[in-house]
Amino acid sequence: MSSHLAVIAGPTAVGKGTVVRYIKENYPNVHLSVSATTRTPRPGEVDGVDYYFLSHDQFDEMIQSGNMLEFAVVHGSNKYGTPRKPVEEALKRGDLVILEIDVQGARKVKESMPEAKTIFIAPPSWNELVLRLRGRGTEAPEEQEKRLETAKIELAAQDEFDFVVINDEVARCAHQVVELVKA
Ligand code: 5GP
Repeated sequence: MSSHLAVIAGPTAVGKGTVVRYIKENYPNVHLSVSATTRTPRPGEVDGVDYYFLSHDQFDEMIQSGNMLEFAVVHGSNKYGTPRKPVEEALKRGDLVILEIDVQGARKVKESMPEAKTIFIAPPSWNELVLRLRGRGTEAPEEQEKRLETAKIELAAQDEFDFVVINDEVARCAHQVVELVKA
């Protein structure tokens, strides 16, 4: 059943969010999991659409009741996790399901569901990644440095993934991801 489950991961600012949005708008039979997080919303982010924004207590309650498929502490501070129910229901309906999570989360899903496909979204180059992160300007310089440190560690993990897709062009990258999930 979960062979139509794919996990995509990749370093900060690689453009995963843009690829995921593109898939959401252009591939209606793909279910994109909405993660839960304890971080505060960025301007324009909507609860239940971009994330479920939870308090630490609410998040811990979901872990304890077995309602998180996986979770991880990302960038050293906040918790992020995948609510289990919507994923299981979408797989039952026969949808293709994509989780956009971090590398630690990808490892955990692969452990509990070995048939899940793991796809790493890589930047065309390290310089391009730095440019994208600084250009986006949503994080303070200190936070940017922290994210670049995480990115270095994440890039080193790409060999563990079943597939690597380079995000040089959003539509092409999205198409390749969907084809891999379907295959
Ligand atoms: P951001 O704060 O920029 O939205 O996301 C930070 C990181 O959290 C990204 O690397 C993203 O992939 C990861 N992330 C988002 N949702 C989840 C999740 O449900 N589980 C895990 N393990 N990581 C997640």
